[in-house]
Order: sequence, then C-alpha cells, then structure tokens
Amino acid sequence: MPQYICSQCSKEYDVITTDGFCTNQPECEFGTGWLREKSSAKSDDASGLTPLVFDNEAGLCILMMDGSLSMNEPAFPDSDYPGTRYKLVAMNAAGGIWSLKSMTHQDNAWLALAVFGGEPKLISIQSVDEIFKEHATAESLADSIQNILEKETPSARFTNINSAVQLAYDIKQAFIRGDLSAYGGPSGFKPVIHPVVRDDDDGEQFIDIPNVRALIYTDGEHNVTSAIKNSFASDEQSVLITAFIGEKNAKGVGQMQGLACTCPKHGPATGFFLIDSPERVQTLRGIFRMASGASGFCSACLHIEQKVVEPAEPEVDMAEAEETGETPVESAETVDPPSDTPSAPGS
Ligand SMILES: [Zn+2]
Ligand SMILES: [Zn+2]
Repeated sequence: MPQYICSQCSKEYDVITTDGFCTNQPECEFGTGWLREKSSAKSDDASGLTPLVFDNEAGLCILMMDGSLSMNEPAFPDSDYPGTRYKLVAMNAAGGIWSLKSMTHQDNAWLALAVFGGEPKLISIQSVDEIFKEHATAESLADSIQNILEKETPSARFTNINSAVQLAYDIKQAFIRGDLSAYGGPSGFKPVIHPVVRDDDDGEQFIDIPNVRALIYTDGEHNVTSAIKNSFASDEQSVLITAFIGEKNAKGVGQMQGLACTCPKHGPATGFFLIDSPERVQTLRGIFRMASGASGFCSACLHIEQKVVEPAEPEVDMAEAEETGETPVESAETVDPPSDTPSAPGS
C-alpha cells in the first residue's frame, strides 16, 4: 500500500524519492510537488499555476539571489517541506524560467543571473534561448542554479543588500542604454519600452516602463555597516521586485518591503512578496516567472496572469485583493498591462 502522496499531483509512492520531491514530470510541474505521508496529506496546492505565453519581444530580467550560508537551512522548518532554502529557490527559479518555453522570442529575452553575500557577483547574462539549449530539463537548470548559490557566493557569511541592489541597478541602466557588453551581454539593441497609464496622488500620468525587471530576495537582513539605500527609488517607475524567505516578523521583512517598487497598475500595492510557508511555493514560482518574462510587478499582477489561464476562480482573486488593500482586479484590466498581454495557454 502506497505510503506517500505528492502534494501537487496526488501521485502515490510506495517509497519516498531520494530528495523528497515528486518525480512525476511532465504531468506534475517540476519542483512544486513534494511527498507527504499519506495519512497527513492535504492538497493545499491544488490551485497550481500553469505556464503562460509571453509575447513581449526584447527584455531583461536581473535575478539577484541571496546565496548566504543561512540559505542552507530547511526552507520551512515547521512543515513537511523537504528542501533547504537553496533548493527551494533553485527549483522554483528554474521552474519559473522553464515556463517561458512557450515564449515566442526567446533569443530576445535575457536573463542576468547574479548571487550575493557580502558582495554581489554576476554569473552570466544569457538569452532564454541559450539557457534552454544548455539545459535539457528544468532539473538540470535547477541543479546548476543550486550549485551556483552554494559554491559561487562571495563572502557568504554576510548579507550586503546595498551592493546587490546597486549592481542590479547598474545592469538595468546598461540595458536601457542598449549595451550590456560590459557585463558580457549583448549590445546594439533597442530595449522595449511600454507606455503605461499610472494613477497616483497626482492623478493620471503617462509613463514609460522599460522591459526590464530586477528581482532580489533574501532570507536575512542587511548586516554590513552602511544604512540601506535604494538606487531604484529615484527612477520614475522602479522595476525592483523583492521577496523575503522566512518568518513574517523577521527584521529583514521591513527592509525588503521598503525596497520594493509600487505597482504602476495596482498601487499602493507593492512588488514585495513574503514566502513564509510551503503554501507560498507557488507564489515564489510565479514571481520568478513574472520577473523572467519582464511581466507584472505585484501580487495582483500575478493573479491576473493566473486568471487568464484559469478563469474559473475569480472570487479568490477578489477576496485576496481586498484583503491586501489592492485595487479590485477588474478595474486594473481597463488599463493595458505594463508589458505583454498573455494569450491563451501554450501546449
Ligand atoms: Zn507530483
Ligand atoms: Zn500589479
């Protein structure tokens, strides 16, 4: 009689897998399902995200990943989630990037992969196309990301948010100038700029949003001497999305919250995400996908993406939007999305 069941696809297992995660791919989206003892199984991840199609052309995502040593601890110690934070991030970054497989212009979508501890280090700038050529499976990409996090993080005993944010900002500026050659990336391209209407205290404003997103996450707090500073704050529209992995009352939460952009469409909602329980694994996946596709900014943007794919559950979106004080989703849809318009689900 099977002893284990996948939290995501409900496949049953007689023996647990070596890493505790579901191996039922492609039916079960890689990295999202893990094995629970059958007696205690509940399917709280049933509303899984489905890959989307991104039609936007040229774009850049800067993934600034905390590789500090504390990431080697269990991701959610009070739960049955079987991975460390390294593993959590590696699997979901890979899964998020992998869902761009159906994107049409993979050679024009760029991903800057960077890690940071006491200092940041840019690992690579590659097109999504190149990433798919280098890695045959999401597992292979996840292994490679985990390896980078564990082995290539400079001064991994420290967490220097400032220098990490500054490097992300510098790369973003280089993208807007159309020249990433200083970082080993392409040059001579024209970045895509999306005109967006933003409602704020000054009324309606027309602003341009470059097709670039920076995503920084940490499980710690800025622990070097200088005070937190945010280069993105002086931009007309910040494109910095932030996430905190850990307890909601940790000191680092407020720091990451303060760094996050305000969504141009759903403000005052911000691009901050708290990943404090296994139920948020799907959210983490969604953030990586949203940033990698240079798509939305905030959790309401994420919900709209989900709605396009799964129109069956609108009341869930509304309830959560109200709970967090965000603009109801329907009014958001009257404005063009800041970047692409997701079309029908791909194959
Ligand atoms: Zn599964
Ligand atoms: Zn939004």
